[in-house]
Amino acid sequence: IKITSRTKSMTQEITITLPDGSQKQAQSGVTGAEIAGMIGAGLAKAAIAFEVNGEQRDLSDTVLEDSNISIFTVDSDEGLEIMRHTVAAQVLARAIKNLYPDAKLAIGPTIDDGFYYDFLSNKTVSIDDLPKIEKEMEKIVASKQPINKTIHSKEDAIKGFADLDESYKVKIIEDSDQESDFQIYNQGDSGFIDLCRGPHLPSLDKVGSFKLTKISGAYWKGDSNNEMLTRVYGTAWKNDKDLKKYLTLLEEAEKRDHRKLAKEMDLFHLQEEAPGMVFWHPKGWSIYVALQNYIRKKQIANGYDEINTPLVVDRKLWEASGHWDKYRENMFITEIDEEHANEKRVNALKPMNCPCHVQIYNHGLKSYRDLPVRLAEFGSCHRYEASGTMHGLMRVRGFTQDDGHIFCTEDQIESETAAFISLLSSIYADLGFDTFDIKLSTRPEVRVGSDEVWDKAEHALESAIKKLDMPFTVEEGGGAFYGPKLDFVLTDAIGREWQCGTFQADFNLPERLDAEYVGEDGLKHKPVMMHRAILGSFERFLGVLIENYAGKLPLWLAPIQIVFMTVTDEVTDYASGLKDQCDALGLRAELDLRNEKIGYKIREHSNAKVPLMAVIGKEEMGSNTISIRNLRENKTDTYSIEEAMKLLVDSSAAPS
Ligand code: ZN
Repeated sequence: IKITSRTKSMTQEITITLPDGSQKQAQSGVTGAEIAGMIGAGLAKAAIAFEVNGEQRDLSDTVLEDSNISIFTVDSDEGLEIMRHTVAAQVLARAIKNLYPDAKLAIGPTIDDGFYYDFLSNKTVSIDDLPKIEKEMEKIVASKQPINKTIHSKEDAIKGFADLDESYKVKIIEDSDQESDFQIYNQGDSGFIDLCRGPHLPSLDKVGSFKLTKISGAYWKGDSNNEMLTRVYGTAWKNDKDLKKYLTLLEEAEKRDHRKLAKEMDLFHLQEEAPGMVFWHPKGWSIYVALQNYIRKKQIANGYDEINTPLVVDRKLWEASGHWDKYRENMFITEIDEEHANEKRVNALKPMNCPCHVQIYNHGLKSYRDLPVRLAEFGSCHRYEASGTMHGLMRVRGFTQDDGHIFCTEDQIESETAAFISLLSSIYADLGFDTFDIKLSTRPEVRVGSDEVWDKAEHALESAIKKLDMPFTVEEGGGAFYGPKLDFVLTDAIGREWQCGTFQADFNLPERLDAEYVGEDGLKHKPVMMHRAILGSFERFLGVLIENYAGKLPLWLAPIQIVFMTVTDEVTDYASGLKDQCDALGLRAELDLRNEKIGYKIREHSNAKVPLMAVIGKEEMGSNTISIRNLRENKTDTYSIEEAMKLLVDSSAAPS
């Protein structure tokens, strides 16, 4: 394997432009490390990689011409990702080779918060082996060896890895369109080499704190016709403190996992016959309905008309809307032999409700006096998601959006935006989320609509947020091709962010589907269509809600609000009478008359997260009282029956 050293054939002055706009003069051929040194000694020490005109490079790479340069440290997101990638591709891969010399290395990319490595070994590697692998990784890091690279032609690179019997690396190189410039990284005199696009840390002593988290099987190239490899997952952070914080969060998230809670609370299940589609059990459906009724009331009070549109719609409408062209891969398509028809009718389950809403808008001529038209639908949609990406309620194939479309004039965008945001913030507050972030995404390069319309819409969205005095961030160029948008991001009880609400202007669909209104001038105009959702989908939002509350839902959403548990058979009639009173008042009450120890009953209903529990014994019956234990506040109070019923009714009402 030949090693190319850096070439400094030309000694030509070049200009380096830094992110703050300042410039430095340097010789052509200057390395990233040298540039960091020119900026400051501290940065030279902390630097781990750099970026040349938007392309990430190793610190040892050279800059030959005038360039924009950023130096990365592990404090930046990019730096952290480069460190994680190095831990996977260099440290974990080398540890695997040390412990399992027969292992053939495949790939080791980064993922959110961490990384994984895939390899094939004749030895069985299990979760119990992770501590051993971690120990070997620690040993490798402690060697503090430098990480260097050499550059090779395709032929050279193939030969190098073929000699080492690294068949996956050989395949990766063979399949590459690249003919040269294959980078092979090594660590001092360790003998370990790996193929990589890089960049990597300059040396092992720059590795932060890491932990291996899990192990699974994974097919080579994700294809189940290929052999199954072993995949080891891990996470890596700047220091121990950050790692600990992350692991605590993971632990907390695991405790709150809505799939686990759903089992304990008997809410829903999923099964193979309908992947990504939810079988709601009575208790789960009761939460769903309570949330839906609440949203319905709020929307109607805020000027929306509720509608309902077909689930199965002819491909002609999807062709007209553009979905057939752009979105077909994600659509569930059906073919029907329609009677007396020469050809089959092709339908699709709607992946979104928008085109159907335009059909309702288009029914009957609209005048400017009719605008804004606000249509809301709990729209049941189906989208094909790859099976590997589905996750409980968080990512499903069948879901119901709290969807809505506002047809308005350009002049009405601002007031509609303001009205939407205040509706959204009152709903979020009612559901336990007091703060949220707003992201404004502006015009992308490829778009429809004139600059004048974009100016107007972007300005209207921004001005509405500013008038409400709400902080927001701008994502330049992040808008859809059909219009600018706002996204609303919640932060849950353990600090995770969930993008739920959206408010998007659309200049395209009214055009495609011929939506019009007669203006004051007597001429026909196109309305702007605003797509909007507050929860996003009920399924996902319920997942977020269950995790946010760790299952301990507020009383108005809880499937069972109170359970009456008897201590002895002698109080059966008294307890039944209380439950009947609750039923008559529209409360969701349950009776537990089982001949079980009271401690057992309490434990069981606590696990099911029933918010209120009343233990009914002879004392309560004798005094006509109820002692109610509150799960969230963890305290017990005694009330007269009348007081208790009033309290229950008052505290279980949905917010309005
Ligand atoms: Zn829409």
